[in-house]
Amino acid sequence: MITPWEVSEEIDYKETMEKFGIKPFKDILNKLENPHYLMRRGVIFGHRDFEKIVECMREGKRFAVVSGMMPSGRMHFGHKMVVDQLIYYQSHNAEIYIPIADLEAYWAREMDFERTKKLAVEEYITNYIALGLNLENAHVYLQSKNNVVKDLSLRLAKRVNLSEMKAIYGFTGETNIGHLFAPIVQVADILHPQLEERMPVLVPVGIDQDPHIRLTRDIAGRCKEYNFISPSSTYHRFMTGLTGGKMSSSKEETAIFLSDKPSKELRKKVMSCKTGGRETLEEHKKYGGIPERCIVYELYLYHLVEDDRELMEIYENCKSGELTCGKCKKMCYEKLVEFLEDLNEKREVAREQAWDILK
Ligand code: SF4
Repeated sequence: MITPWEVSEEIDYKETMEKFGIKPFKDILNKLENPHYLMRRGVIFGHRDFEKIVECMREGKRFAVVSGMMPSGRMHFGHKMVVDQLIYYQSHNAEIYIPIADLEAYWAREMDFERTKKLAVEEYITNYIALGLNLENAHVYLQSKNNVVKDLSLRLAKRVNLSEMKAIYGFTGETNIGHLFAPIVQVADILHPQLEERMPVLVPVGIDQDPHIRLTRDIAGRCKEYNFISPSSTYHRFMTGLTGGKMSSSKEETAIFLSDKPSKELRKKVMSCKTGGRETLEEHKKYGGIPERCIVYELYLYHLVEDDRELMEIYENCKSGELTCGKCKKMCYEKLVEFLEDLNEKREVAREQAWDILK
């Protein structure tokens, strides 16, 4: 079972898509005039009802994008992907909603409200702004302070029963009632933009969040009185951690954090990360590397190389064995330093703005 609270490290994306009826994103890619590089490169691999969003983007109609956050540690490169998507949709006139799941953090992770708020502002919102997201007109809110969302969640709660929640999330008799209720608040997060104005809503997520999407779509269909448009979703791949498993804030060695500074330690992390290189230099030159299994290549693909031609060149030079892993990792570290230095500078300015966003 894939739930938002437990994700096994090996996910068979194809099987999951077939099982839950998620459509391949590549089938809709050519309908977009200017797809994001994460879409072109297959990092965003699946969708539900994205056709509605394509229509809005093509015809200049209004739509909203909801992307919640539950801060639990430092923000790393895996988290950055969501911000990149929000920036893209904002440039296509989407209304951006960012709920901060402090209720869920309290119920499911035992995090107190003040700590969640501080982490959300100083780590996440600061980085969101520094990365280029304009939050001035966006709707950023704490779940615990949003009465519209809370009221809606109380009404929606009547539309779902315990057996269904158990079947979707694997809840047991030990689950506290707050945790049980947390998904309903998320459903309200996703549906509430339509209370003001009926419009398509998109939720870009990792596959672990799909239970929320399925529940939201089911509940939206049951609430005839609201006449909700069923929300659309896209699914992106998880970024692999530097050591091969999932990138995780709680395992420092697996992640590069957005607040990392260029340092010996960071260099060491990059230089010792898992690659698709061969056992020996001789073999690498003879048979070529395997970029598909390489974390360095993943860093280029997801974050550090925006130009498709440059990426293709790295890919081909790796495959032919012309590019060696030592040289390639050095280049990756240099690109990373350039990126982080720029982001660090921007974050200094963003930090001041970030607290104002939640006022
Ligand atoms: Fe990875 Fe670069 Fe080595 Fe290819 S050459 S396997 S992309 S580190």
